[in-house]
Amino acid sequence: MRTIQILDTTLRDGEQSAGVNLNGQEKLEIAKQLVRLGVDAIEAGFPIASPGDFEAVKQIAEQVKGTTIVGFARATKGDIDAVYESIKGAEAARVHLFIATSPIHMKYKLRKSPEEITEIAVEMVKYAKKYFHDVQFSAEDAGRSDLSFLTNITKHVIDAGATIVNIPDTVGYMMPAEYGYMFKRLKEDVPNIDKAILSAHCHDDLGLAVANTLAAIENGVDQVEGTINGIGERAGNAALEEVALSLYTRREFYQATTNFHLEQIARTSKLISKLTGMIVPGNKAVVGANAFAHESGIHQDGVLKESSTYEIIKPEVVGITSNTLVLGKHSGRHAFRERLITLGYSLDDEKINVAFQKFKELTMKKKEIIDDDLVMIVDDQQLKEQPFQLEYLHISGDIQVSTAMLRMKLPDGRIEEEAARGDGLIDAVYNTIDRLSGIKLKLKDYQIQSVGNGRDAAGDVHVKVEYKGKLYHGRGMSTNVVEASAKAYIDALNRIYTKRDVYRKQILKEIG
Ligand SMILES: [Zn+2]
Repeated sequence: MRTIQILDTTLRDGEQSAGVNLNGQEKLEIAKQLVRLGVDAIEAGFPIASPGDFEAVKQIAEQVKGTTIVGFARATKGDIDAVYESIKGAEAARVHLFIATSPIHMKYKLRKSPEEITEIAVEMVKYAKKYFHDVQFSAEDAGRSDLSFLTNITKHVIDAGATIVNIPDTVGYMMPAEYGYMFKRLKEDVPNIDKAILSAHCHDDLGLAVANTLAAIENGVDQVEGTINGIGERAGNAALEEVALSLYTRREFYQATTNFHLEQIARTSKLISKLTGMIVPGNKAVVGANAFAHESGIHQDGVLKESSTYEIIKPEVVGITSNTLVLGKHSGRHAFRERLITLGYSLDDEKINVAFQKFKELTMKKKEIIDDDLVMIVDDQQLKEQPFQLEYLHISGDIQVSTAMLRMKLPDGRIEEEAARGDGLIDAVYNTIDRLSGIKLKLKDYQIQSVGNGRDAAGDVHVKVEYKGKLYHGRGMSTNVVEASAKAYIDALNRIYTKRDVYRKQILKEIG
């Protein structure tokens, strides 16, 4: 059995999904959970993109141990320097530098000849080698590149010291047989290929990201890249949980495994969905709510008699258990803290005390406190440190007209009060928030889900708002859905406020 190395790029490619804007604390939480999941490398971000990105990568490098931290860079000295400065504190560090190799990209985007591209790639790998032992080179848009040129540039960057060569299908154009064939040829034709690891990176524009990744594995690739839940640019990246489960379920076929702790998959998926606002569709493979639901009577009957009749994966394998651990009013501070740690939160004593107090208050309203309630408590607390904060909310109205009165803390510390009307309670609340912030946001999407079962379940609201042509997400939870809605909107507002990185967006546009 070979072990396939997994590079998770949820925090880089995944964060490039439209409407996803994670803050430093959220990135750190995700990184810690990825370590629990057992990823071999975390691509933490693109440090040159903005001071915020640089800082987030630095925090992850310094605080997240037990995995390799990777920083993304264009093939320029400035980008490589920024990666070095941000990740030098990591236990194990890697730079991932890229330059486009397809005729389309070379001609129109870079305006350079293949010879010039090879020269830059070699020079920059050598430059990166001064800082890093571990240097990953990516031939951007490799899928649409000339295979003999790829063979040639791969040989040269390996000679220059690249330890990993990534052959991405950047635009999601390849078919599995074609993509697999590229790796077969590179393995045969690049004379020094034994000195480096080949890597696959696929996008899902034609729904083939996972199939292409598996084709690459069949043809000898030793590292694959992707994201949890398959989030990422456009249609997204290869969903790592699907790749890992395919290798596990069909291990006799692939003769390959990963270092994944499969039972952490469900939790990781949930955390990332919550923090990014990218809701997992019910029918999504492995982690969708219906992935293990049998609806047809014939199927149900079969599964009851013998689960393997219709079930190729046992839900427990990916960490879905029917008996979720619940805390109640008799649970102590220690159990509470332990539970938060397993959920991926690391709070200092002071924050634990405040959160525990909130937990006790909630046990008065709800008998059983489930994991999602704890997430709500902790998130609330983190909202407290945000520039805009909800202080007080009063709503009234009938079916025709509603009125909301809100008190909010503003970024300069002032506490202001406003009231506004709207078509319905939530519209009234959002109009009031717009007045208080002075920023008019366009609501593009609003979704509400219940957290837990029963009538005392909390509401989990996700919104997408548009500001200056860009989408931002926000989320809020509360046992009152109007309050949850207000919190979600204010969360989006805070993300807009804390993101002052025009430069970053320019770069992302440039790399596509
Ligand atoms: Zn990508």
